[in-house]
Amino acid sequence: MTEATNRPRGGAFGIERPIGVAVLGMGNVGTEVVRILREHADDLRSRVGAPVVLRGVAVRRLDVDRGIPAELLTTDAEALVARDDVDLVVEVMGGIDPARKLILAALNGGKSVVTANKALLADYTGELAAAAEGSRADLYFEAAVAGAIPVVRPLIQSMSGDRVNRVVGIVNGTTNFILSAMDETGADYTDTLAEATRLGYAEADPTADVEGYDAAAKAAILASLAFHTRVTAADVYREGISKITAEDLETAAAVGCTVKLLAICERMPGGERLSMDGSAVAALGDASSSSAGKDRVSVRVYPALIPRRHPLSSVNGAFNAVVVEAENAGRLMFYGQGAGGAPTASAVMGDLVMAARNKFYGGRAPGESVYAELPIAPIGDIPTRYHVNLQVADRTGVLQAVSGKFAEHGVSISTVRQEGFDEGARLVVVTHHAPESALADTVAALAELESVTSVTSVLRLEGTEE
Ligand code: NAP
Repeated sequence: MTEATNRPRGGAFGIERPIGVAVLGMGNVGTEVVRILREHADDLRSRVGAPVVLRGVAVRRLDVDRGIPAELLTTDAEALVARDDVDLVVEVMGGIDPARKLILAALNGGKSVVTANKALLADYTGELAAAAEGSRADLYFEAAVAGAIPVVRPLIQSMSGDRVNRVVGIVNGTTNFILSAMDETGADYTDTLAEATRLGYAEADPTADVEGYDAAAKAAILASLAFHTRVTAADVYREGISKITAEDLETAAAVGCTVKLLAICERMPGGERLSMDGSAVAALGDASSSSAGKDRVSVRVYPALIPRRHPLSSVNGAFNAVVVEAENAGRLMFYGQGAGGAPTASAVMGDLVMAARNKFYGGRAPGESVYAELPIAPIGDIPTRYHVNLQVADRTGVLQAVSGKFAEHGVSISTVRQEGFDEGARLVVVTHHAPESALADTVAALAELESVTSVTSVLRLEGTEE
């Protein structure tokens, strides 16, 4: 048989050669992918137009009972990917290498790849997309962002005729579980993290989740798709939730807010931060900089107060949600299970069916789109509102001294509330939009004031448009 006739092209040609699938990894996600492939083989055949056949599964350990025939399992992932009867590779092993090398080998060999690997994509999409382009293969990655929730395909395809201005998401279930529980119970961070670990919502080493690395990788992927610009994890400003206290949640509640770890991707046309209706709410910080007035994007992950009326504030527990704001579509919200074996496998299988159909009928997935090449705005330039909590001396003149420091640094105050008295006197200041750099200078100056005992917390306030 020649190479051309050996291809699984069918459809109009009436040839029905099976589509061979290799699965790399059989952990939380891989186990569910293998289950669905085997349990729903008949449906998949009807949806694709040809049988979809599992050729093998690569794992590290062969001495684990995985409930599938032993001859399907191998530790030689490279040889599995190279097999002639493998047309499509599903990478669900995670990590950078060997996943990266295996995906490149598959793509360079003309095999389509479906991956859930956000850490890899956040840094290597360019290299992987170039390999896919070179061999006219497909690279699909719906499961890499927000598990079961379709958000990658809507951004790449459904919204390809619109202009996306903002993507804001709760894209990490572990941190959302912790913050929701702190909000509900009033417990502190350490106890709530311990409870999340006990219930299986946090890993033994929770760093990637609680310090925002996982959300930053997803933000990089979302921003790249939304703004047709290559954004990597290193471009994302990142803060985690490990410094959030029970008191932060309490003071947030007192102003009608809750605290969420947000992944925020924004287009800043002419250097301005846009409101929902597309009008400017605040200009970028440094008006004298060489990039002032130019289009830029900002990508950042941090815990922030959001009003309880904001659609993301009711996303609780381990759920994820992504809000997309576009010039013509307006606001869209995607909500659901952002992790877990079966939900993530659902997204993988959707990609697998697309890639298998393309193999069968001869179509192709959209390639990487990075034509806009927008520069990334540094965090110091981003105008945000702040919620500043100060421990102060309980005497006359304090309010004047504090508000004077805000004014000196060009940070306009929206509201000030005094709480407690004597030793327990506190001021809670909410600002209008101000650049990060101006706020940082203000906080440094406040800390020097004799009447300020300490700046207890500074949290950003998002989701308001004043
Ligand atoms: P996991 O449970 O740790 O499973 C990893 C699997 O890969 C295991 O079966 C492991 O083999 C295998 N593996 C690892 N290194 C290997 C190597 N060098 N050669 C052969 N096999 C190897 O991971 P997971 O939770 O399923 O996650 C997989 C991917 O999906 C990751 O990229 C993750 O970020 C992504 N993802 C996961 C979720 C989720 O909810 N879990 C959600 C979205 C995206 P052994 O079984 O022998 O150890």
